[in-house]
Amino acid sequence: MPLLSNHIAVVTGAGSGIGRAIAGGYAREGARVVVLDINQQAAATTAKEIRDAGGKAESFALDVTRRDDCIAMAKQVADKVGPVSILCNNAGIARRNGMLGAAEAVINDWEDIIAINLNGVFNVTHAFLGALRASKGRIVNIGSIQSFVHLRTPSSPAYTASKHGVLGFTKALAAELGKDGVRVNAIGPGFIETPLNEKVRAANPDLVKVFIDHTPLGRPGKPEDIVGPAIFLASDMSAYVSGSIVMVDGGYRTI
Ligand code: NAP
Repeated sequence: MPLLSNHIAVVTGAGSGIGRAIAGGYAREGARVVVLDINQQAAATTAKEIRDAGGKAESFALDVTRRDDCIAMAKQVADKVGPVSILCNNAGIARRNGMLGAAEAVINDWEDIIAINLNGVFNVTHAFLGALRASKGRIVNIGSIQSFVHLRTPSSPAYTASKHGVLGFTKALAAELGKDGVRVNAIGPGFIETPLNEKVRAANPDLVKVFIDHTPLGRPGKPEDIVGPAIFLASDMSAYVSGSIVMVDGGYRTI
């Protein structure tokens, strides 16, 4: 019996990388998947891949920074697809500039990263909250190693702040929504090979080596490595798990 039969799962940023893999995994476990991405074409491609593999999916364009659009999307999904019971807040961006660059760039990084990685998680969650409470749903937020620490490899304070925020939001929601039967957890990926870090990997193999040398499992992660934990947290297998973060980082944080 598939683990997510009779569920409708929304995945943001699902046109690429980790979100695309999670959307595919949820569909393989029987969920009907709502693929959302700022890039309409990318979202449509993920949904088509799912349907071609025999799964159920529809796609819509959504910029998670646009609060009113998130509210309108929740209504549209309720009307056109049905009651959502799983939300995976995955959409995110990363930039690797520190605090000491040109002021304009530092400020732009802060505003863009917080808008997408943190405010976006709030916007989508708030929009789907009614549906998730009604369905005793599950929320899976994508955090990071940077939900706990900053990295010595170049990274922006905004990214670290946003991912600490995602973990804090996860705990706060878990505490408040538990009595409604809604479970809220996070996943903390390590270094996962996706388009997000494609340029860095190509331009700076030394940076990748620093990461891998620090990773007990000795390899970078693949988007598919995140799928099992994402299914676990969305399914009844994790019925008594809430407010937790599952690290999927090859053991990075152990050393
Ligand atoms: P990715 O391949 O770049 O995928 C992210 C997707 O989100 C892209 O399709 C992107 O569209 C979309 N997106 C960007 N801004 C958006 C917005 N405002 N509204 C809706 N969608 C938006 O990145 P990924 O590596 O899979 O990252 C997914 C999540 O994992 C992020 O939250 C990231 O912080 C987190 N994470 C990744 C790693 C890693 O090593 N890859 C590690 C830890 C955590 P465009 O491509 O058009 O911008």
